[in-house]
Amino acid sequence: MKRIMIIGGGIAGLAAAYKVKRAADNGHKIEFILIEKEPRLGGKILTEIVPDPAGNGRFIVDGGPDCFLTEKPACHRIAKLIGIFDEELPTDDSRRKTWILSRGKLHALPDGVIMFAPTKFIPFVTTGLFSWPGKIRMGLEFFIPPKKVKPGEFNDETLERFVVRRMGRECLDRLAEPLVGGIHASDPAKMSLAATFPRLLEMEQKYGSLLKGFLAIRKMVEEMRRKYPTQPGEKPRTFFTSFVNGMQQLTDRMAEVAGLERMRTGRSVLSLRPKNQHRWEMHLSDGSTLEGDAVILATESWAAEPLLRPLDPAIADALAGIPCTSSATVSFAFHEAEVGFDLNAFGVLCPLVEKRALMAATYSSTKWPGRAPKGKVLLRGFVGGPHNQAIMERSNEEIIRIVHSEFQEIIGLNPKANPLFTRLYRWHLGMPQYIMGHLSRVELIEKRSGEIRGLALAGGSYRGVGLPNCIESGEKAVSKILNEWGIDLEEDHMEEKRYY
Ligand SMILES: Cc1cc2nc3c(=O)[nH]c(=O)nc-3n(C[C@H](O)[C@H](O)[C@H](O)COP(=O)(O)OP(=O)(O)OC[C@H]3O[C@@H](n4cnc5c(N)ncnc54)[C@H](O)[C@@H]3O)c2cc1C
Repeated sequence: MKRIMIIGGGIAGLAAAYKVKRAADNGHKIEFILIEKEPRLGGKILTEIVPDPAGNGRFIVDGGPDCFLTEKPACHRIAKLIGIFDEELPTDDSRRKTWILSRGKLHALPDGVIMFAPTKFIPFVTTGLFSWPGKIRMGLEFFIPPKKVKPGEFNDETLERFVVRRMGRECLDRLAEPLVGGIHASDPAKMSLAATFPRLLEMEQKYGSLLKGFLAIRKMVEEMRRKYPTQPGEKPRTFFTSFVNGMQQLTDRMAEVAGLERMRTGRSVLSLRPKNQHRWEMHLSDGSTLEGDAVILATESWAAEPLLRPLDPAIADALAGIPCTSSATVSFAFHEAEVGFDLNAFGVLCPLVEKRALMAATYSSTKWPGRAPKGKVLLRGFVGGPHNQAIMERSNEEIIRIVHSEFQEIIGLNPKANPLFTRLYRWHLGMPQYIMGHLSRVELIEKRSGEIRGLALAGGSYRGVGLPNCIESGEKAVSKILNEWGIDLEEDHMEEKRYY
């Protein structure tokens, strides 16, 4: 029996564990043991079920991620395998609207905007979100020739440079930064497009213009919807998907199906070393030592760095070159009648240029049906990110007070509305920043770790922060090790089915 030791019980580590379990169920003589530093599994995925103080149901509070991108198949595939596909929850698109704060006022995101490109003429020309010179500059994008990229040249650019070059500064400040940069909680002046949204770079080269590219995408999506309409009884296909009981429903069930008895929480791995060519040894914070045949490091990059430094300083240096920023979410529950503003929206984005502490707010109980009992609402604010690390130095009470007053000043929350409860979740260095040069760092990490027998890295620090990407990275790490052992899994040759 060969043993894979998995360090880290976030979604990437759990995806790795579950893949080992599937392989073992298929007759391969392998097992895993998973070590997680925190007392709970799930990593950044954390859902708290809070009973309504009035005893009329419950609130479902997601402290970290609250959804995944529907178009990426990995979460659907796993949900299907572990029997919770029917528990997937689409957004309530009958109430879909996004507000963007601009010059102190809330403006609805114009209909037809894809990423940061307007694709519908009337909503674009009539919106008060942009000035007329800003709109004209955006329209001129059609006529700007694409960047010349020599054959074989690596094409990369920061989000800022790319958007300003093609669509103008106002589009970056009012749309691209909050909508696109916000997904990664990243600084647009440093964020590498090749590492985050390579399709934008490809689109410029393919269509010569982003507007032309996005119009083609809109046409394609509309055709697909016509060709494959939602069937009676089928759930609507929305842009984002969650689970009925919050995102942790996914990781809880993954852990259960993979085997909780093989997971040890509340202790961290302090050191790691190859004992000989085929065995690995690690020391844990509880004083114990574990041995196995391979190791998957599914921690944050900054947590993997000290473990790998004695083994390969070049990998450790590359890991240290991935900066991470901290953030926090604050959720408030209120009586609906008390909030004093229109709840028919998914939330509010506050661009950096507005210089607010609040980066974004989600009207959680509007966006996701069932997040609050009838007559109550759940709202969530997001703070921190690369431009406001200082807020993380504040006490919990201060952060809560800041977010509460931002809700009043920006959204119009009634100052007299009394929160039924409040929850704050801090994510220390929880967001890896894919800055320029990220892909070369990742390539170096993959190349050098690829040459070390029995070692693989996984997680959101490398090739995508989204949950589906994290699942795939955990699974890929297992495949790397099994391939070294001459085990070829049938599922590695199956195409990812599209479940939407
Ligand atoms: C506030 C927030 C909101 C987000 N929203 C979304 C969203 O809506 N949709 C989306 O797709 N993505 C979102 N993301 C990104 C996504 O949550 C992460 O990319 C993903 O959860 C990372 O998973 P992971 O398994 O790689 O790492 P983690 O979840 O960070 O897991 C790593 C684990 O390793 C453990 N560990 C570290 N060192 C050791 C050690 N020495 N020994 C043992 N254990 C160790 C840690 O305790 C941790 O549990 C969000 C992230 C944050 C912070």
